[in-house]
Amino acid sequence: MSSFDLDFGLTEEMKAVRESCHRFAEDVMRPVAARLDNMTPEQVIADDSPLWSALEEFKQLGLVGMPETYGPDLSPAERALMHCIVLEELSWGDVGMFITFALFNMTPTIAANFGRQDLVEYFSARDEISCLAVTEPNHGSDSVAFTEPVFFDKEITPDCRVRRDGENFILNGQKSAWVSTGTIAGSTTLFATFEDSDQGYADGAVFLMPLDLEGITRGKPLNKIGQRSLNQGEIFFDNVKVPRQFLIMEGPEVYPMVWEFYLKGANIAMGQQFIGVARAAYDHALAYAKERVQGGKPIIEHQAVKTRLFQMFMKLESARSHIRRVAIAEATIEGGVPFEHAASCKILATQTAFDLANEAIQLFGGNGLCREYPVEKIFRDARASLIEDGENNLLGLMAAARL
Ligand SMILES: Cc1cc2nc3c(=O)[nH]c(=O)nc-3n(C[C@H](O)[C@H](O)[C@H](O)COP(=O)(O)OP(=O)(O)OC[C@H]3O[C@@H](n4cnc5c(N)ncnc54)[C@H](O)[C@@H]3O)c2cc1C
Repeated sequence: MSSFDLDFGLTEEMKAVRESCHRFAEDVMRPVAARLDNMTPEQVIADDSPLWSALEEFKQLGLVGMPETYGPDLSPAERALMHCIVLEELSWGDVGMFITFALFNMTPTIAANFGRQDLVEYFSARDEISCLAVTEPNHGSDSVAFTEPVFFDKEITPDCRVRRDGENFILNGQKSAWVSTGTIAGSTTLFATFEDSDQGYADGAVFLMPLDLEGITRGKPLNKIGQRSLNQGEIFFDNVKVPRQFLIMEGPEVYPMVWEFYLKGANIAMGQQFIGVARAAYDHALAYAKERVQGGKPIIEHQAVKTRLFQMFMKLESARSHIRRVAIAEATIEGGVPFEHAASCKILATQTAFDLANEAIQLFGGNGLCREYPVEKIFRDARASLIEDGENNLLGLMAAARL
């Protein structure tokens, strides 16, 4: 990074949080992430995996339940800025680990957002990793695209269906192998479509539910290109009886709105996280360009290399400014920002992370392609993000529908 700090106006407390996140990212996350990246998906989640000791150290930072944990004196705008800084620093360390940590005890936080104090207490007592279960094997984008006709298509048969049964709901089917922390989560936010629906994906129910109910089983962890520290896997439901207590919302009047609200939050968070990944790529490229000697001088002294680094710097700074502006508006305006702004955060940050990681590899030359150097991992992590939480072209299509 440039030594000039654009984050002026931070309180001493905010600077201290930024510093402790940075230290944790550098000293704990990066070394553990490098080990996890070379493990099998089964080893990543084994009892003796370094992921779990890192999670214990993360808990010591006092950030579980963020952004509420940043201190009572911050205004909504300051809290939103703090959240941007924290997510950037920790994702700079390793984004796959950060997502795992962010999902720890996420269910009570979501219960609080819906004003469900009973579920806050129920899930807080369980102290576990959560997940968000939306995607199905035969319906990825279908289940996301609330602006598109396919979302309302009654001919579509979902892979995960729910029916009302007196005071309970009965769940059948499965969620796809793409559910993050799917094989290890103790609870989930589940989006499921009604069996007898004549409105396709638009008629469903949202549950905050434990994943140890009878009839729930898991698949095996997925082996993927990047973000290898993040577990992924299927969840199967066989006549699972879900008590009404775990229901958050149901019916076509609210289901698409709740999904939009959810995706909006997830897209802004993806923007906040992947700016950290973009910065990691830039930082490595800058440091390497100052060290690597070719033609008798460090490559940064070659004019062409210098301007390429400035292009990276400019893309990073401008994407970060956009994401922070949207995140602060989301936190301070009643009702938050419209969906297209949230989608722009996700698409811009992930594309910037991918482009900067690609350019970082180019600046590293042949070394950039080797596992001994850090940038090929960042490239793989960023590559996955172009599809994660909504494929970027599809999100762009949905955002365009709102213009
Ligand atoms: C790292 C990672 C983490 C993830 N975490 C989660 C998670 O925690 N929970 C969860 O539920 N899911 C998760 N996902 C799943 C993710 O949301 C889906 O992969 C994504 O929505 C795309 O679905 P798909 O993979 O089935 O692709 P498809 O929907 O099959 O899309 C394939 C291609 O077709 C295009 N396409 C599809 N439909 C249309 C259309 N109507 N119009 C135009 N183009 C279209 C798409 O743009 C895409 O390029 C994760 C994915 C990744 C990569």
